[in-house]
Amino acid sequence: MACGRRGPQSSFERLHVALGEESARVVFDEPGEARCGRGAYICPALVCLDRALKKRALGRALRCTPLVDESALRVELLKRLDARWKRESGGR
Ligand SMILES: [Zn+2]
Repeated sequence: MACGRRGPQSSFERLHVALGEESARVVFDEPGEARCGRGAYICPALVCLDRALKKRALGRALRCTPLVDESALRVELLKRLDARWKRESGGR
């Protein structure tokens, strides 16, 4: 994990590098999407995303220097946090 926290994989969000035609970008995994390339896990928390971005832990974990759209990643993480919260607090 980017921050050293341990736990089941389902309690983390996974990021991976998507290879585009001209550049590599860091994006979150989509459910059901084939997982290609190296991934990195972060806690579902903005502080952890920020820490990973600051320390460039992602580039190290992913072994490249991809483009990182920080604001897009933050927005996406917030969406995922919201979905997690709904899953966990909603009825089953
Ligand atoms: Zn963390």
